[in-house]
Amino acid sequence: MEHQIADIQYCEHLFNQFYDIGSTESGGVTRLGYTKTEDRMHDMFVKLGSSLNLRSYQDQVGNTYLANSADDGYYLIGSHLDSVIEGGRYDGVAGIIAGLMVMKWAAEDGLKLPIRIGAFRCEESSNFGCCTVGSGLITKEAYKQDIGGLVSKEGETLEEVFKKNGYSLHPAKITGIKQYLELHIEQGKVLEECQTSVGIVTTIAGPRRFNIYLRGMAEHSGATPMSMRYDALCAAAEIILEIERIGKKEAAYQSVATVGVVTNHPNVLNVIPGEVELGVDIRGIEVSSLNRMERDMKEAAKQICKNRGIEYLDEKIGDIPPIGMSDSVELGLERAAKRLGISSRRMISGAGHDAMSFANICETGMVFIPCLKGISHNRAEFTSILSICDGARVIYEYLKGEAV
Ligand SMILES: [Zn+2]
Repeated sequence: MEHQIADIQYCEHLFNQFYDIGSTESGGVTRLGYTKTEDRMHDMFVKLGSSLNLRSYQDQVGNTYLANSADDGYYLIGSHLDSVIEGGRYDGVAGIIAGLMVMKWAAEDGLKLPIRIGAFRCEESSNFGCCTVGSGLITKEAYKQDIGGLVSKEGETLEEVFKKNGYSLHPAKITGIKQYLELHIEQGKVLEECQTSVGIVTTIAGPRRFNIYLRGMAEHSGATPMSMRYDALCAAAEIILEIERIGKKEAAYQSVATVGVVTNHPNVLNVIPGEVELGVDIRGIEVSSLNRMERDMKEAAKQICKNRGIEYLDEKIGDIPPIGMSDSVELGLERAAKRLGISSRRMISGAGHDAMSFANICETGMVFIPCLKGISHNRAEFTSILSICDGARVIYEYLKGEAV
């Protein structure tokens, strides 16, 4: 659809206000969760809200909200303002900008609907190794276990950070939400390749994560004959390829499997690798597929280690089940896009989002917008201002339908 110049300019203005915060020399941004840089993003969010005459407040874990009404039964438009290390400027921020645009339009049109925008803390796992901390804590969904002991990149525990800021690791559960809506960049190439303007998310794939520990024998690389070795890294190499095969086998169910972390000890040129840790991330939208992948991975890894005389241990470090979005919100967003003449398609989200935290406590919907070549978590991440306007318009059009 054609956007008004004023909308494009406002969108650009919002984007530019956040631009410099956490900028790095390489051209990206580092805005880690629960750091001073993330605080500055939230301060800017509040400032932008006050220029729209919105009331701002923080909850017990530092999430920041802007509200156009104190009424319960509000529509919460949310996303996050933190980033990965050397990340891009659109992941999370695009959703917050969309929320501000919706608020502006609602005010201009005198739309009678209670709307709030939520900026959730520490959505990325880059600082504490744990994702959706802010939204997970207040919805009581993600973290049944105590996460206070998690340690930041700076070596502080989450508990210490919370204490310093007056936050609580056991906050009251958020109440009064009628629906949760989130705009996010796709972080994949589907929309771009299909030349579709927006994606309506049906299911968010659940990440299941493991550490695998392999112990062989660190010995002299020159003095140990090939037949007498217990090389943990060679076992790891076989396991990595096996996990790739398992992922490909389950691709028909839209599942994926990745070994993203390899830690090799002692990682020295003239020593046979004695110990290796692997970080495995499997995701899918069907629990049966995830279960098969987990079983096959463990069986294969154990067999590989047995054949090589390597000690094997695995540990599940995360398990968020795949979660469906609300059918009626999906349909509503799809119809809204159609009314505006914006092309849309239903799709799954391979990446996790704050929406996962809300889907079990209220009706939840997500709108994806394309990002260049699917690149994300990278300084080259890019989406156009027009795409943000498209997605924001779809959400606003949907909310207009809710107001009548
Ligand atoms: Zn994100």
